[in-house]
Amino acid sequence: MEPFPEVPLFEMDQEEDEEEEVLSMKSRGGMFAVHAFAAGGTDPDTFIYMNFMKTHRCYDAIPTSSKLVIFDTTLQVKKAFFALVANGVRAAPLWDSKLQSFVGMLTITDFINILHRYYKSPLVQIYELEEHKIETWREIYLQYSVNQLISITPDSSLFDAIYSLLKNKIHRLPIIDPASGNVLYILTHKRILKFLHIFGSMIPKPRFLQKTLSEVAIGTFDRIATVQESASVYDALSIFVERRVSALPVVNKQGKVVALYSRFDVINLAAQKNYNNLNMTMQEAISSRACCVEGVLKCYPHETLETVIDRIAKAEVHRLVLVDRDDVVRGIVSLSDLLQALVLGPAGIYERSSLQDGLKQVGN
Ligand code: ADP
Ligand code: ADP
Ligand code: AMP
Repeated sequence: MEPFPEVPLFEMDQEEDEEEEVLSMKSRGGMFAVHAFAAGGTDPDTFIYMNFMKTHRCYDAIPTSSKLVIFDTTLQVKKAFFALVANGVRAAPLWDSKLQSFVGMLTITDFINILHRYYKSPLVQIYELEEHKIETWREIYLQYSVNQLISITPDSSLFDAIYSLLKNKIHRLPIIDPASGNVLYILTHKRILKFLHIFGSMIPKPRFLQKTLSEVAIGTFDRIATVQESASVYDALSIFVERRVSALPVVNKQGKVVALYSRFDVINLAAQKNYNNLNMTMQEAISSRACCVEGVLKCYPHETLETVIDRIAKAEVHRLVLVDRDDVVRGIVSLSDLLQALVLGPAGIYERSSLQDGLKQVGN
């Protein structure tokens, strides 16, 4: 299949680790099918998306052209975040020229972590942001988190890519050409869903798409992290760091959702150079966003899975906010939840909090 010419996101690479190799072997063989059969019952519809992802390669999801920005680890962190803004990209692979290899990623989450860790007050400059190099930040930060690049090869299946994204709880997976070591693209959940949305029309439509959200229970429905519109940006960053969620529904005093603040929106602080004032309210931060989606993209428990997938794919957002009739937040339906339920669940793999939350095995 030719690469499909769609909205570019990012790109990149790394060696398959041992565990991923094992997964590839298993998924090409029959082992997962046996698990899937056990997990999903006898309805063949259950396995349609899993099989689609197993039979398409990461290479197939790479657009014909896209922008890739790479940072040397000796670059200052502040310059790196400005460069993300200037180039309109959300993340960049990191190149270590001493090791002559890619060693990690720089994403907006790293910007959030730096701000949250070192911010003191609007009157004090964040020295570490102004002065640190990427390598200095990584020496400090990597003691506590993922410390090697997670990547995938172009020939790996999209199933393996989804498994890696969800297992490692990351949102950027570089595709690296093993022959040249070059990063070809940075794969995301959004890109994979878009690929499915475009090419999925060529495969039979599973009947479970007509089930409602309340029937399939795909998403997170309890302990939803939200932020009050009167809270400060620093409060929101604290929730991002502590809860590790990708976005916060912004609620008013009545508990109704009035906006959505995602990790992506935090990059506006770099674009507007106002990261020294994290005391501003969410209301202020939201109204000053340079570009954002109009309103809040929501869904309701009575809507069908098909409607939800269509809406999230067309709007190109990472999640919908599940609300009741009064616009009170009842849950989050994220791309991670959809890919878990439609692709990994049927293979008997539960990488997210899905089992504990009592969620998702579609098709039964
Ligand atoms: P965001 O959603 O802000 O783009 P992620 O959730 O992907 O960020 O990143 C979470 C953390 O994991 C960040 O510190 C980031 O640098 C790191 N990270 C993201 N992708 C990878 C990867 N492919 N390999 C190693 N680390 C990664
Ligand atoms: P990413 O591509 O990094 O995953 P997101 O989809 O989280 O980015 O966010 C991209 C933009 O879309 C942000 O401005 C964010 O506020 C907005 N956005 C994301 N989800 C929603 C939603 N459900 N409702 C309204 N705006 C949203
Ligand atoms: P994501 O990081 O959006 O890919 O989602 C990872 C998991 O976190 C999914 O199961 C989401 O439903 C869940 N999630 C995302 N945002 C929130 C939130 N604000 N509160 C609680 N759970 C969330």
